[in-house]
Amino acid sequence: MRQALFHGPGDVRLAEVPVPSPGAGEVLVKVEVTLVCGTDAKTYRRGHPLLLAEAPAPFGHEYSGTIVETGEGVSNFRVGDRVTSANSAPCGHCFFCRRDQFSLCEHLQPLLNGAYADYLLVPAPIVATNMFRVPEDMPAERAALLEPLACVLKGLEVGTPGPGVTVAIIGLGPIGLMLVYGAASRGARVIAVGRGRHKLEAAKRMGAEHVIDSDGSADALTAVRALTEEERGVDLAVEAVGLPEVWDFAIAAARKGGTVNFFGGCEPGSFATVDTYRLHYEELTLAAAFHHTPRHVRLAMDLLKRPDFPHEVLITHRYPLEELVLPLRMMSNELPRDPAFIKAAVVP
Ligand SMILES: [Zn+2]
Ligand SMILES: [Zn+2]
Repeated sequence: MRQALFHGPGDVRLAEVPVPSPGAGEVLVKVEVTLVCGTDAKTYRRGHPLLLAEAPAPFGHEYSGTIVETGEGVSNFRVGDRVTSANSAPCGHCFFCRRDQFSLCEHLQPLLNGAYADYLLVPAPIVATNMFRVPEDMPAERAALLEPLACVLKGLEVGTPGPGVTVAIIGLGPIGLMLVYGAASRGARVIAVGRGRHKLEAAKRMGAEHVIDSDGSADALTAVRALTEEERGVDLAVEAVGLPEVWDFAIAAARKGGTVNFFGGCEPGSFATVDTYRLHYEELTLAAAFHHTPRHVRLAMDLLKRPDFPHEVLITHRYPLEELVLPLRMMSNELPRDPAFIKAAVVP
C-alpha cells in the first residue's frame, strides 16, 4: 500500500509499505478520505516533537473509511463498518484522568498517525473509546471532521456562549468557522473577525451576525467594540489563530467582567502580557481549551449526524494522495493558494 512519510521539515514522500495486520484490539481501515489539519501543515514545516516518532514517520489523523480487518478481541466493530475516530484516547487511570481532565491525560499514546495512506491501523485504546460507526448516508468528508469538531465543542464550554451573549471569534480557519457555527447555533450573537472576503462569507454561512475584516487599515478592535453595547467589548472573546499578538487582541476585545478563551496554541516559547489592572479590577476571566475528551467526541458525532451540518462550507478543495504535498505547501505559504481555500481533503 501507499503511505505518506514525513522525513524531515519540507520533506514528505509516498512510500510503498506492506499492509499492516491488526493486533489485539486494533482494526485495519481502508481509508476513504483524510482531511488536512493545520497541525499537519505545521508538522510539514517544522516537525512535531509530540505527535511524531522518529522520522520517517507516518502522519495524518482526520479520516474516515471502512474496516477491512479486526484484531483479536474487537467486539464492538466488524468488517464492513464505515468508521471514523478521534486521534487519541485517554487512559482513564492517570493523575489527570482521575480528575476528569481527560484532555491532559499523560498516556494519550499511541496516537493515531498515518491516515495519509491506503490503509490505516487504528490503535486499540481508540477503537475501544473514541471510534464511531458512520451512517451510510453521511459523506466521508463530513465524518472525517470528528476530531477537530470535538476540540471545538470542548472549546465552546469556556464562557458558555448562548442567548444574550456576544462572542467575538478571532481567526476564521476551519476551527474558527466551526466555533462560529457552534456559538451561533447555541443562540449567541457572533462577531467573526478574519482575513479576506471568502472567509468572511463562510463565517456568515456558519451563522455569524457580523463579520470584520482584520486586513487593511481599519481598526478591527474599534470595529468589534462598536458592535457591543456602549462599546464596552464582547462578553466572550475566542482566539482561534495561535499568535501572541492575536492573544493580545482577544484580551483587548473582552469587556469588563468578560471571558477570553485562548483556543489557538502558540509556538513553544511564546509569551503574551496581561494588564494586571484589567485582570483584577475588571475581573477578566482568562481560560484556554486544548484537545478533546471522549464526551466531546461523542457530542461531535451527534452534531455531524444533523442533516444541516455545513461541512461543505469547510471542505473546499480535494487532492489525490499523490498530491498531498500541494495543500501542505499552500497552507505553509510556500505555494499560492486559492483565496477560497479553507480545508482540503486527500483521497487515496
Ligand atoms: Zn486535526
Ligand atoms: Zn490518563
